[in-house]
Formats: sequence, structure tokens, C-alpha cells
Amino acid sequence: MVIAFIGNNFKYEIEAVTKLFLPLQNFEFLFEEIPENAENFCIIKREKTEGGHILSVEAALNGEKRSISESGSEGACDEKDEAILCRILYKILNELTGITPPWGCLTGIRPVKKVNKLLDEGKTKAEIFGILKEKYFVSDEKLELAFMTAAAQSKALKMLDKRSFSLYISIPFCPSRCSYCSFVSHSIEKPEAKKLIVPYVDKLCEEIAEIALIARQLELRLDTIYIGGGTPSVLPAELIEKLMVSVKKSFDISKIREYNVEAGRPDTITEKKLEIIRDLGATRISVNPQTMNDSVLAAIGRKHSAKDTEEAFFAARKLGFRNINMDTIAGLPTDTLKGFEHTIETLCRLDPESITIHTLTVKRASRLFSEKDKIADNNIGEMVSCGQKKLLDTGYIPYYLYRQKNTVENLENVGFAKEGYECLYNIYIMEEAQTILAAGAAGSTKLVDTDTGKIERLFNYKFPYEYISRYEKMMEKKSGISEFFSRII
Ligand code: SF4
Repeated sequence: MVIAFIGNNFKYEIEAVTKLFLPLQNFEFLFEEIPENAENFCIIKREKTEGGHILSVEAALNGEKRSISESGSEGACDEKDEAILCRILYKILNELTGITPPWGCLTGIRPVKKVNKLLDEGKTKAEIFGILKEKYFVSDEKLELAFMTAAAQSKALKMLDKRSFSLYISIPFCPSRCSYCSFVSHSIEKPEAKKLIVPYVDKLCEEIAEIALIARQLELRLDTIYIGGGTPSVLPAELIEKLMVSVKKSFDISKIREYNVEAGRPDTITEKKLEIIRDLGATRISVNPQTMNDSVLAAIGRKHSAKDTEEAFFAARKLGFRNINMDTIAGLPTDTLKGFEHTIETLCRLDPESITIHTLTVKRASRLFSEKDKIADNNIGEMVSCGQKKLLDTGYIPYYLYRQKNTVENLENVGFAKEGYECLYNIYIMEEAQTILAAGAAGSTKLVDTDTGKIERLFNYKFPYEYISRYEKMMEKKSGISEFFSRII
């Protein structure tokens, strides 16, 4: 598909809208140049007329053509023009492909943030639905979902103040690499990755202590902790202990509201590790099956069974964990609607406090990108809808929701929880409502001014080897935290 821009350069949003309909296509972009001899193309135009500007889209797909024009702004090219062109393009591609994306042309990753903003402005539910339907063509089903999620978040969002923050600790190692993974996580099957684990945890403990020092100097208050990955439970028991002891020594964890450890893959969870995690203060863990179908687990490269997941879950219960999350993914290779329903029903029987339904995302960095034909070919939208309905019927409520680029059918990821078990960290990070100070490779510190909503970011090195070898250089950037808070407090 060739996309040509004349009199504008709205590449980012236009590409995002086009991908809603043609998710796995490669695009060629032209600027101020009409495509010649292209069978499939879109021409996005903003042209001057006597009274202002005319906005138009002309598109051709598989031998069919459409074009629509509307009036644009009088002056400089602005966001309103961009929004109009996106809507026109959406209407045309909707006609040419017959596809009606459930989120309409809402392309951002945080739809609930939009709902929360409109609620803050005093808009009613009916007004919010009206706005999001007219501007973005969002379906009723997704509007209801976003609205329910916003309602479940409101208490957690009201608890925040400028000095509170969450701590994220990254463990970018896994026992093996899943076929759909595009994260930087290293499989410890490779000896060169395995030998990085000990020096990595050493540096991580140093960074945690440095972050604690900065937080104390700025009189910040630690609110929640999230040890995620990767698979944190891939660390040997003594390194999990070392890490969590360093957290306990660096911060007063007696006053925090939540301490999450993503125990992660069942094949890494042992009773000994769970005891350490419990004794060192974790209040919530995840045991992540992704699917309860053994053949699908094998297809994605996991080396555990559904039975291992159940055993890890029961072990956690026996050791006293009363807040457990379980993650699933709809659309995994070889999975079916029936198979996915089986996964959700099995998890409901286990009765964890929260269940997350992700939709498969196929990124270029994943092995699956070159094996796209293996993606479940039945209706993934139906898997997601059936799974969500089952959780709602069982008494779980949606409490955080986000979307990712390149998600199959442009669907969403939703965390469901029993009332009172909503994960605060997940809400704060997804709504960008609280400062997150991040430690570890690929950690991204997000500095949030809760008054203005302004956000600044500081990035750690992505890969463990550079995190270890360039640690001092990376720590120089941490002065950005103090600079930010001296400006906003
Ligand atoms: S467990 Fe998660 S981070 Fe690890 S390889 Fe699988 S998808 Fe990637």
C-alpha cells in the first residue's frame, strides 16, 4: 500500500488508522508526490482554496476506488485537520474492506484516559458516549467497557498526591523465549545470558538504594512496588531474596499500599521462592498461564503444562497468598474459541482475585512475525468478547485497560478483578497518573506532574549487558528526577 501526503504530513496518525484495516501490510510513504502505477494507494490531501482549505482522501484497494472531501481550517495545518482526514480515511477504508473496528478510529493506547478526562470535565455518561461515537466511531460494547473501567479506577485515582510514587523493578530474564515475545528479555537457556544474572542483580540492588536515597532527599512517599519482567521468578531463590532484602533495607515498606511480584511462568515457581516472596513483604503475585491448553503452550514455546500452572497456583494459596493474578492471551497460535473458553472457565474455577485478558500482539521483533500464518485464524474478537463476558458474569470487574500497536484486530488488554483487589500499580501506570521510578534494564522512569498532567521520561539502558557495563553513565541521568520535582513542588 502506498500512502501519499500532499500539503500535510500526518504520517503517524494516518498510518495508525490504515493499520486498523490492513494490520500486517507494509507501507510505502510519498510526500508531495502522487503515486504512479500503484494498485493499492491512499492520497491524503490538504489543498488551498479561495476561502480556506479543502481536505480530501482518495483511496484504491483491490480494484475499487473511493474519495471524500470536506472543508478544513482557514489558517495553518492543525490537529483538527488531522482528525478530519483520519475520519474520512476511516469511512473510506470501512467501505472498501467491510471491516468495522470495534474501537473505531480511536488509535491511542489509553482509551480510558479519554473517558476519565471527559468525566473530570463534568460530562455525563450519555455525553461521553455521544462524543466518542461521533468523533471516533467507537462501538457501544467498547464504550461500556471503557466506562466500567473508568468507574472502577476512580477511587484509586483519588488517593494520589504529588509526592507519592511507585517503584518498578525490571528482571529481563526468562526460562525460554515465547514465540510472540518482542520484549528485550533474555532466555537463560543461552549461557551468555545466564552468566549475566548475578552481576545484574548486584547492579540492580545498587540502583534501588540510589533511588531510595533520591526519594528520601525529595521527601517522596513510596506507594506501590512492582517487580516485573521478563520472569522475576526465573532468578534462583537466593537472588530473589537478595533483591527483596535490598528493597526492604532501602525503603520503609511497612507503609506501602501494594507490593507486586510477577512470579510469572509456572515452570519457575517453587515453594521456596514463594516463601521468600511472602516473607519479604509481597502482597500480590501473578501466576501467568497465558493458556490452559497444553498444545497451545507447546506452540508458543513454553515448557510447562496447564497442570503445572494449577500446581503453582495451589502452592501459592497453601502458603497464604490471598491476592493472585493470572494472565491470559486471546489469539495465540493454534488456539480456538473453544480452547480459549476452556482457559477462562478453568481459571474461573481456580478463583484467583484477578484475571487479565490480553489480545495477541504481533511485533516485528517476535519470532511469530515471520510465522503470521500460525496465528489463531478464528475470530479473536469473539474470544475476547466471550472471555470478558464470562469474567463479568463471574463477578470480576474491568479496572485497567490499554491497547498496543499491532494488536490483532486492534483489540484491547483488560485487567479484571474482584472488587477491592484492583492492582493500583496497573491503574497508575496505564492512566499515567503517578510517578513511576524504574530500576533495571529497559526500565523507564515516568515523572508525572499530577496538577498539569505533564510527563517527562528517563530511560535506563535496554539490555542487561549495557545496563551492567554502563551503569555509572546511566546513573548520571537520575539527576533528572530531582530537577523535575524541584520544578513541580
Ligand atoms: S514470559 Fe513474557 S517476557 Fe518472557 S519470553 Fe515469554 S513473553 Fe517474553
